[in-house]
Amino acid sequence: MSAQGRDGENPKPQSVVLGVAGGIAAYKAAELCRSLVQRGFAVQVVMTAAAREFIQPLTFAALTGKKVITGLFSSSSSEETLASAVEHIAVAQENALLVVAPATADVLAKFAHGLADDFLTTLYLAFTGPVVLAPAMNTNMWTHAATQANLDILRARRHKIVDPEDGFLACGMIGPGRLADPERIADAVAAELNQRRDLEGETVLITAGPTQEPLDPVRFISNRSSGKMGYSLAAAAAERGAEVVLVSGPVSLSAPGGVTLVSVRTADEMRARVFEHLERATIVIKAAAVADFHLSHVPQQKVKKTAAKLSLELDPTPDILAELGRNKQDRLLIGFAAETENLEREARRKLETKNCDMIVANLVGRDEDVGFESDQNEVTLALRTGELIRLPRASKREIADRILDEALNVRRALAASR
Ligand code: C5P
Repeated sequence: MSAQGRDGENPKPQSVVLGVAGGIAAYKAAELCRSLVQRGFAVQVVMTAAAREFIQPLTFAALTGKKVITGLFSSSSSEETLASAVEHIAVAQENALLVVAPATADVLAKFAHGLADDFLTTLYLAFTGPVVLAPAMNTNMWTHAATQANLDILRARRHKIVDPEDGFLACGMIGPGRLADPERIADAVAAELNQRRDLEGETVLITAGPTQEPLDPVRFISNRSSGKMGYSLAAAAAERGAEVVLVSGPVSLSAPGGVTLVSVRTADEMRARVFEHLERATIVIKAAAVADFHLSHVPQQKVKKTAAKLSLELDPTPDILAELGRNKQDRLLIGFAAETENLEREARRKLETKNCDMIVANLVGRDEDVGFESDQNEVTLALRTGELIRLPRASKREIADRILDEALNVRRALAASR
């Protein structure tokens, strides 16, 4: 789908701001600009003073058919100066997204800390829509603790960071820091604006959250799962056009828009609901932290505090994922593995024993910033194709998109090898 709307005679193109900061990679921003225009976006380019040392505004004006904004007070007449003094507010209101490429270490630092001393940084503060940042810089600058801390701040604001690629840099070093391919950046822009509808026609069945296994009418066994990973997957899949059924254990999250929520409590209930909705599902993602044991006969009355000790005899719950693996047919089946040790070995073992196409594995119980309850995650994907992909720490929403991307890649690879 292009950036043009579907309805009406003369659909209005979606407008985006392309901020160009001062780095060697500024020339590649011209390629990104052309790609965005070709995809149907109306592009307003904003250049920093340093960017103009590397590339002429005329290049962007020719590509976009629009005057390039180069400064806060860019006019000579006093009337026009007043207009340009508030132009950043108008530009912030008129555009659906802000993408900055290349985003230099300086721009990242200014954005992170709210400094506003030119048009781009002022616009950033006035802007409320999605932000895509494509950093490019020398390897040491990229890995510097200051830059990484600034990126953490920007990620926490839910900005999309299109990580730089490894390669030969203009400064002569080899390493991370090279601006991402302009097509990758344009894809990120389209995805942020919900243009990526690559799951249209799919039905994605997702389980999320913990299960609660009753011990008596008032007590239960459960775990620390917040459901955030599963809910992020549901949001991502729905945005990409899928019909989504979310079978969720008890969590304090609300279901993303357009998603069918099926609330359950126990592993047995989860199993029953999953198999009820399985028929139509083309992709099944078992993100739930299902309790492994339960009481098979739950007392009808509250257990009294009579004895000094209480022993519980627990039976295993049904392994829903393993059962899905035995009834897989041609659906994509994705399981999760939360481990405290031997992450990759366990991921590969579960991939085989549960007949999955992907296991999303993460270490839990060590780092409070990732995993259970956190908004961030750091996972390794073990794929049926034999690949192991380590995803760097990112928001659960970003990780969700990567999981869906890789699931589609696995399906393509398996189809090609048949
Ligand atoms: O074997 P383990 O419990 O570590 O595997 C985790 C994966 O299996 C998760 O995808 C989880 O949703 C699923 N699972 C399940 N039923 C269970 C236990 C785990 O579907 N009873």
